[in-house]
Amino acid sequence: MKTYGKGTQAVQGGYRPGSGQPRQVPIVQSTTFKYDTGEAMGRLFDLEDSGYFYTRLQNPTNDAVAAKIAELEGGTAAMLTSSGQAANLLAIFNIASAGDHVVSSSSIYGGTYNLFAVTMKKMGIDFTFVDPDASLEEIQAAIRPNTKAIFGETIANPALTVLDIEKFAKAAHDNGIPLIIDNTFATPVNCRPFEWGADIVTHSTTKYMDGHGAAVGGAIVDSGNFDWMAHAEKFPGLTTPDDSYHGITYAEKFGKEGAFITKATAQLMRDFGCIQSPQNAFYLNLGLESLHVRMPRHVENGQAVAEFLSRDPRVFEVFYSGLPEDRYYELGQKYLPNGGCGVVSFRLKGGRKAAEQFMGALKLAAIETHVADARTCVLHPASTTHRQMTEEELTAAGIYPDLVRFSCGLEDSKDLIADISQALDSIDASA
Ligand SMILES: *Cc1c(COP(=O)(O)O)cnc(C)c1O
Repeated sequence: MKTYGKGTQAVQGGYRPGSGQPRQVPIVQSTTFKYDTGEAMGRLFDLEDSGYFYTRLQNPTNDAVAAKIAELEGGTAAMLTSSGQAANLLAIFNIASAGDHVVSSSSIYGGTYNLFAVTMKKMGIDFTFVDPDASLEEIQAAIRPNTKAIFGETIANPALTVLDIEKFAKAAHDNGIPLIIDNTFATPVNCRPFEWGADIVTHSTTKYMDGHGAAVGGAIVDSGNFDWMAHAEKFPGLTTPDDSYHGITYAEKFGKEGAFITKATAQLMRDFGCIQSPQNAFYLNLGLESLHVRMPRHVENGQAVAEFLSRDPRVFEVFYSGLPEDRYYELGQKYLPNGGCGVVSFRLKGGRKAAEQFMGALKLAAIETHVADARTCVLHPASTTHRQMTEEELTAAGIYPDLVRFSCGLEDSKDLIADISQALDSIDASA
């Protein structure tokens, strides 16, 4: 499906039924798989043959949907995880362990920040957070001999900073390490980070990919471009024998194209068990089938709402890379020529109290811990998703105490604007 357009990949990628087989991806609702001989199954355990033996590691439904996401991103291999959190945990832990270090953009999702700065730190992995607008020299200065990866988000949730992927990729490759990009908000419909030098892409498929608020999930995609063997001393997990699989060396046996995902499946999925349920993979696939149709509408609504907000005198500041006055307009034009996403962040002149009043007055937009959904939703990050962060950390991540994250769904933009307008009026009334 490589030569097809994104729409064709979104609809038909990953699964090619033979004659008489189900047209829709079958849900293989089975924990296990039957074999004729113990020897045949043994070969699977040694990674000598590929096949299924237990759904904690792999399942055919998941693999079909992961293959579609790999095609959409232009990668060579992919896997589904139980959530976006699990995707970022596994993507990093696959190449960094206790005593290692990772450089991350400071402008990232709050859950990822907590995963890195608190939980993975307890696992012995140290993170340095750099400004998303850091210069090449500043990124370089954060890199240590034990740094194993650089991490960032294409469009950060919720600050909506646009990452200069080429610059971060250069910093990574100058130091013989991969760039991992969380592409959740842009989706491959609006940006393919591999085309700009990223090596690994992660997703919270819970967001636009599912798009209907039906299934929590995640994905990891490998570009197949990073040469682990060329930097063998940095990545012993991929370049030296794995005793738990009779001494195979992933980078030798599966090459650049397959080593990363095979290791993450065979070791980390085996041991952590954060697999996506096949039922959820099926729901995710229904979402993927219309991703290329939905994203332009999310962008259209986001642009209309951002323009409306930017003209309203009660609004202090709007963050949306589609606005010419936005700080990330140029980077947006480069990396997101068809627009970024439907999420608009903004601050009201009345501060945090006005933000709370505004949200309470909305009728169509619902207050939810969710984003990137068919239904418009709204959230106050400082008191919810980013609650654990200090004022300084919030500011570094671009999350002001009065920031409102408004996720435009697929409704009619005139109705969303009318809702916003009446909610703004209601703050005035009570001020
Ligand atoms: C939501 C989100 C995550 C976490 O994903 P879950 O599916 O909620 O675990 C990670 N990264 C970004 C950018 C997100 O928006």
